[in-house]
Amino acid sequence: MSLTSSDRRSITRKLLHWYFLNKRDLPWRHTNDPFKIWVSEIMLQQTQVATVIPYYQRWIKHFPTLASFASAPSSEILRYWAGLGYYRRARMFHQAAQHVHKKLKGAIPRTAEALRSLPGIGRYTAGAIASIAFGEKTPVLDGNVIRILTRIFAIAQDVALPSTLDILWELAASLLPDQNPGDMNQALMELGATLCFPWNPRCPQCPVKALCMARKKKKTTVFPVRPKKEKYEKLEMAALVLQNSHGEVWLEKQRDDGRWGGLWMFPFWENKKTLLKEIEDLRPRATFFLALQHGYTKYRITLKVYRLRLPRKKMECRFLKRRHGRWVPLEKTRGLAFPSPHRKIAASLLAENI
Ligand code: SF4
Repeated sequence: MSLTSSDRRSITRKLLHWYFLNKRDLPWRHTNDPFKIWVSEIMLQQTQVATVIPYYQRWIKHFPTLASFASAPSSEILRYWAGLGYYRRARMFHQAAQHVHKKLKGAIPRTAEALRSLPGIGRYTAGAIASIAFGEKTPVLDGNVIRILTRIFAIAQDVALPSTLDILWELAASLLPDQNPGDMNQALMELGATLCFPWNPRCPQCPVKALCMARKKKKTTVFPVRPKKEKYEKLEMAALVLQNSHGEVWLEKQRDDGRWGGLWMFPFWENKKTLLKEIEDLRPRATFFLALQHGYTKYRITLKVYRLRLPRKKMECRFLKRRHGRWVPLEKTRGLAFPSPHRKIAASLLAENI
């Protein structure tokens, strides 16, 4: 049995009613300013709400307008982004804001289609900004919405398939009301974030439980149907903490066009063997400092960190002549933008000094 159009209208009505009574008080829900909504949507990509809130507040205080953000240097942007990870988001957001500021006289595009032509804005983010900030009747589909829709409509096809996603985009669109469609998009996201959890959905509290087909079949957690999990590839990398007798550490700023463009990092290599070969002319020998685990796309990386305190007479060593970096007082690392594992290395060194 499938859901009729009257069922769909009922889902919309119930979800909106529930949303107005139960929505969380989030800072970006107090504004209609498209720039601020844009900031929140970019920060929320791949990052949890609780983590985003303080970053969003600090950001809006420092860059209250699109013009103030677009005109800021990228080093300042990265400083305010530091810790949120996925720095490419910040760089693309900056490029997009500069484009809007210079080429569109500061007018943020009002439709999802036009928004998608900006760097860093995909179909989901475009739909969210256009519907929430400009009231365009356009859907959103992220992991939360996919989970809810596949459950309510008991969609048994593999959600990794483009044909399934097409069906889900259509279903999401079919639930939108003419007035304030952004509220319905947010209601779906809110349901996914607060009740329709991946493994233990709180169906008894759900406003659409009477219509949810997965619940009727007692198969809620079967949906969404996904392909078998891809195996993660394990990688080992090595990094070096080089310290001098002035309490400074050697850091290297990454080229703007690389994966970590503009970020600061400790020198690093593919593995310990390459690291040790690179520093074989240095004495004393490097010693093991710590190991960090982190994930990047399909990789599970163990970063082994070694440490070496360089005596004054070795400051002009061949190793440093080959590298492009500089000595930075440990305290100053607090204000620099690092990728997450390297920020943890700096934090461990700072913690040691307390
Ligand atoms: S009834 Fe349960 S599974 Fe269905 S949408 Fe609500 S919370 Fe999710």
